[in-house]
Amino acid sequence: MSIQPFARVAIIGIGLIGSSLARVLRRDGLAGEIIACARREATRRKALELGIADRATVDAGEAVAGADLVVIATPLSAYAEIGARIAPHLAAGAIVTDVGSVKEAVIRDLRPLLPAHVHFIPGHPVAGTEHSGPEAGFAELFRDRWCILTPLPDADAAALARLTRLWEQAGMRVVTMDPDHHDKVLAMTSHLPHLIAYTIVGTATDLEESLKSEVIKFSAGGFRDFTRIAASDPVMWRDVFLNNREAVLEMLQRFSEDLSALQRAIRWGEGDKLQDLFTRTRAIRRSIIEARQA
Ligand code: NAP
Repeated sequence: MSIQPFARVAIIGIGLIGSSLARVLRRDGLAGEIIACARREATRRKALELGIADRATVDAGEAVAGADLVVIATPLSAYAEIGARIAPHLAAGAIVTDVGSVKEAVIRDLRPLLPAHVHFIPGHPVAGTEHSGPEAGFAELFRDRWCILTPLPDADAAALARLTRLWEQAGMRVVTMDPDHHDKVLAMTSHLPHLIAYTIVGTATDLEESLKSEVIKFSAGGFRDFTRIAASDPVMWRDVFLNNREAVLEMLQRFSEDLSALQRAIRWGEGDKLQDLFTRTRAIRRSIIEARQA
């Protein structure tokens, strides 16, 4: 099915995710015009230099005027302010979406601010790297990854279909989900692993100097893989934990119990228990590879 191009796309926040989408729009000629919005002059200049935006502005209201697609791709803590700023300027019939890693909080913050004449369809392309900013983006980021849309019960079917086609064009497999379900699933698959990585690397940085330098030297033993995740953007991840508090705390509780059980198995020399768990987890890795999500 072919995709109907957008006349004007406003991307509020032209970092890793926003600029990757802009590159897809450019590559496939899906936008007559792309307007980028960012707070810093350096970010806006970079977006223009990279040729991924036709215009760039600090004013989100100005950015969305006349746009038929608006994509919010900033850290979550900026959403409420952006919602208030863009609301009076949104064109009737525009699709307003986002790429935020948490969905219930987004709907809570944005929905009351948006006029009834736009189609608000929250989304989350589950793809990323530990890098940030417009230079970090690339069009292939989304290929073979999942995009989760969390439309409200009264969502416009045509707008949902159009947004679905856009993410499919970016190479994604698109599913719809209830926002609270999304937040629980992502708490386990993304938010908890990040928290664990931040904790392990934090613990290592608190070690006395001699041990710390050895940890870095011998990091290939496993530690190195955690440091990649723990290098993810601090502001983005602060916002994720503040905005998905309940689901993360629930998964963390389960994790702590399982960790205690493992601690006990080690203490009592229960090798069978350890081996049994490690065998099951190895099978999970195989199924991720088979699902082409490795
Ligand atoms: P990023 O690379 O840091 O980009 C954020 C962009 O937003 C920057 O261009 C920043 O530029 C701009 N910005 C920040 N505050 C703003 C404001 N108040 N008004 C206008 N622009 C503003 O971040 P990202 O990784 O693309 O993440 C963006 C969103 O995608 C987050 O909500 C995150 O949850 C979600 N997400 C991230 C990933 C991932 O792995 N990174 C994956 C999926 C979804 P200035 O600093 O110049 O304003």
